[in-house]
Amino acid sequence: MRGKIIAANWKMNMKYPAGLALFSDMIDMIHTEVTGPQQTVVCCPFIHLHALAQLAIGHPTISVGAENCHEAESGAFTGEISAGMIRSTGADYVILGHSERRKYNGETSALVCKKTEIALKNTLNPIVCIGETKEERAANRQFECLKRQLDDSAFPLDSNQFSKLVIAYEPIWAIGTSQTASAAQAQDIHRFIRQEIAIRYDQEMADNTLLLYGGSCKPDNAVELFSQPDIDGGLIGGASLNAREFVDIVKVYN
Ligand code: PEP
Repeated sequence: MRGKIIAANWKMNMKYPAGLALFSDMIDMIHTEVTGPQQTVVCCPFIHLHALAQLAIGHPTISVGAENCHEAESGAFTGEISAGMIRSTGADYVILGHSERRKYNGETSALVCKKTEIALKNTLNPIVCIGETKEERAANRQFECLKRQLDDSAFPLDSNQFSKLVIAYEPIWAIGTSQTASAAQAQDIHRFIRQEIAIRYDQEMADNTLLLYGGSCKPDNAVELFSQPDIDGGLIGGASLNAREFVDIVKVYN
């Protein structure tokens, strides 16, 4: 049986004290209100990682993750952060290939794959993001686009590596726009991703891979999205900056 994950993506938000306060509120609410086995993963800016990982100790259903890592193990890369450095903070996850990094930092799927490999080598669980643009969706090219992103970002990995991945489907037109994909649209894509995993690896891998939906997910639309058979949770941007909204989304799986 696949688990369920609700992951937060704070992006470039939250100064240090505000981030600690937000995470502490989330922990309190999760502790008293979340009754299911769902895992909560809070992905935050690097400055928060160690403090949040310390706060998460003793809360087995709450983990911390980064929003990116460098593709090299270490070296002369001024200003960069390696997967090993992230792991040393106590973080367990890292988001890779988010569409904002693909767009603003020119990250290609091949680079995302390299980052994924180094993250795995350092025992981080990568959350690999894929998603089509508005134009690709309008031209009905979403499947082709996602297939290409899977082929280049994740499918070069061997079975053992791939089995540790979480895949997040985030249609770019839905991120931060309040234009959530309908539950039917999201389910169609998630089913497609699972089929592609079965073709590349096998049915067992397809059945076991966690697939998250991301893109303007809020407490009121999460119920329908998360009840789709191939959706195993969400990657939450805007709504994860508010403890009440975020925990209400986590609680959908109670
Ligand atoms: C995201 O950036 O990963 C995301 C899903 O953002 P939002 O929820 O704000 O659309």
